[in-house]
Amino acid sequence: MNNKVALITGSSRGIGRATITEFAKKGYNVVINYKNSEKEATELKEQLQNDYNIKALAIRADVSNEEEVKEMVNIIISEFGHIDVLVNNAGIAIDKDFEERTVDDWQKTLNTNLIGPFVVSKCVGEVMLNQKKGKIINISSTNGINSFFPTSIDYDASKAGVINLTHNLAIQYAPYINVNCVAPGWVNTEMNKELPKELIEEETEKIYKKRFAEPSEIGKVVCFLASDDADFINDEVIKIDGGY
Ligand code: NAD
Repeated sequence: MNNKVALITGSSRGIGRATITEFAKKGYNVVINYKNSEKEATELKEQLQNDYNIKALAIRADVSNEEEVKEMVNIIISEFGHIDVLVNNAGIAIDKDFEERTVDDWQKTLNTNLIGPFVVSKCVGEVMLNQKKGKIINISSTNGINSFFPTSIDYDASKAGVINLTHNLAIQYAPYINVNCVAPGWVNTEMNKELPKELIEEETEKIYKKRFAEPSEIGKVVCFLASDDADFINDEVIKIDGGY
C-alpha cells in the first residue's frame, strides 16, 4: 500500500473503471465517484478492496453540482485526510445528427464535460494547495484537438475546453499541483457501443494500430502522470490514439 489517495470521477465503468483499477493495483486508496450506477460502484469497491488489499470508497456526486462535489470532498477528507490525485474523467456524448442538436444538448454536455472538471478541480484544488502537493489529470479527447464529426460539435467544444482548462489550472496551481491532460482517440467502451458497424470499420482502418484502445491503455498513462516519476511533466496534453 502506498497510502496515496486517488479520486476518479465517473469511475464505475469504462475508462474511469480501468483507470481506478490501475491505481488500486499500485496500492493507492481509491475513491470511485458515480452519478447513477450505485450497484456497479459498490461492487467495484468490494472487488478492488479484495483484489488489491487497499481501501476504497464509492461516493455519489454529479460532477457539475457544486454542493454534491463539496460533500464528496468532505467525506474523502474525513475518511483519508488527504487527496493526492484527481482524475477528471466523467463525461457524456449525446448521439444526434447536427440538425437535431439543441441548446439543451449543448448545456448538458458542457455541464458534465467542462463545468464538471472545473467544479471538482476547484474543490479538490483547495485541499491540494493546503497539502502543497497534488496531481490533476483531465481526460479530454482527440476530438478536442481536431474535429472530424460535426455530429459531435458540442462534445468537441467541451473537450477543447478541457485542454484550455488544463492550461489555466496549471498556471493557477503552480508550483504545487501538476495539471496535465490526456486526449484519447477511439476507446472500446460503452460510449461507443451504439456506433454503426461501418463507421467502426472505417475508423479502425484510419488508426495506424488498426484497433481501438483498451480502457486500461488510457489508465496506465494516467497512472504514470500521477506518479513521482512524472513530477516534471506539467501543463502537457498527451494524445493516446494509436496514430490516426
Ligand atoms: P462511459 O460512458 O463508459 O463512462 C463515463 C462515466 O461518467 C459513466 O460512468 C457515467 O455515469 C459517468 N458520468 C456521466 N456524467 C456524470 C456526472 N455528471 N457526474 C458523475 N459521473 C458522471 O465513457 P468512457 O468511454 O469511459 O469515457 C470516459 C471519459 O473519456 C469521458 O470523459 C470521455 O469523453 C472520454 N473519452 C472517451 C473516448 C472513447 O472513445 N470512449 C475517447 C476519448 C475520450
